Amino acid sequence: MKRRSFLTGAGLTAVAASTLPAPAIAAGKRKLKMVTTWPKNLPGVGVSAERLAKRIKVLTEGKLDIKVYGAGQEVPPLQCFDAVSSGAADVYHGAEYYWQGKSPAFNFFTTVPFGMTADELCAWIYHGGGQELWDELSAGYNIKAMMAANTGVQMGGWFRNEINTLEDLKGLKMRMPGLGGEVFRRLGVAAVTMPGNEVYQALESGAIDATEWIGPWNDLALGFYQIAPYYYWPGIHEPGPALAAGWNLDVWNSFTDHQRTAIETACAMENDVCLADYNYHNAVALQTLVSEHNVKLRRFDPAILAALKKTSIEVVAEMAEKDPMTKKIHASFQKSLTMQRKWTRIADQAFLNARDPQE
Ligand code: CA
Repeated sequence: MKRRSFLTGAGLTAVAASTLPAPAIAAGKRKLKMVTTWPKNLPGVGVSAERLAKRIKVLTEGKLDIKVYGAGQEVPPLQCFDAVSSGAADVYHGAEYYWQGKSPAFNFFTTVPFGMTADELCAWIYHGGGQELWDELSAGYNIKAMMAANTGVQMGGWFRNEINTLEDLKGLKMRMPGLGGEVFRRLGVAAVTMPGNEVYQALESGAIDATEWIGPWNDLALGFYQIAPYYYWPGIHEPGPALAAGWNLDVWNSFTDHQRTAIETACAMENDVCLADYNYHNAVALQTLVSEHNVKLRRFDPAILAALKKTSIEVVAEMAEKDPMTKKIHASFQKSLTMQRKWTRIADQAFLNARDPQE
């Protein structure tokens, strides 16, 4: 008591902390497990998961110490959702559309063919009611998810031969998963799903004639240009897919307000940083593909794009009828997109058309 009488407030705090037994300080620290749908440290998305975990640790002053596991290290990639839902893992970093078997509504929180750009998706999720609907959907699985990365616009894919007409698509065997696969299937493509590490060999053996993957940066690394030299744009099936961090809801609710804010801050930042990573490195890799590897860039023919658009709208609308929650989320997504595109058209799109007109 005698000492305290002359200590300032700040000094008192310092003394009090230093006299606490070590375990009491350590008690506030938690070790958490993050499972991911990506190979450990895969450039872009894998690195994004690591950066997110590190930033959360710093922002919580070491209190939340997250260990990141690559795809298959703890659970197979597509089981990340169940692992977090059950509490076997604390958080996943992955793409929500991988969980479309649980509910087709998850597609809207990654991307849908002819859907939103990364900017438009942010507008809907942050300000147009998207996050509230996402919370409602995920809570049914004991999960709280949020955007935590984005790859930007993807490419249309690699083809052995030129695709000039809709006829050229008929009978083509192509790696094209998810809703994009269904769209291409309705145009006569034999669309198949396979993980990225199997695609090169499938192309080389002739098991497939074409493949989509991500964009120049990740595609260059997998070497598809060696077999299929025609690289088509744009990737209408994935116009700006967001990736997510999904937390076990009990774990999320056990965090302090400070920790939850730190996590939301780190995820929002990672959403930007990852998108910038893709936009920068896609541009660098595109240059390499064209100048060093003689890749032939091709735009899809307008008639093909028109058919893809019509079919995409049908596929998404049909999916929306599958259950009431998907219908509700589709209605909100569509309302935001309808409004947003009127702005995008006279803002970003008009500016880009003026800056870089295309014949
Ligand atoms: Ca893709």
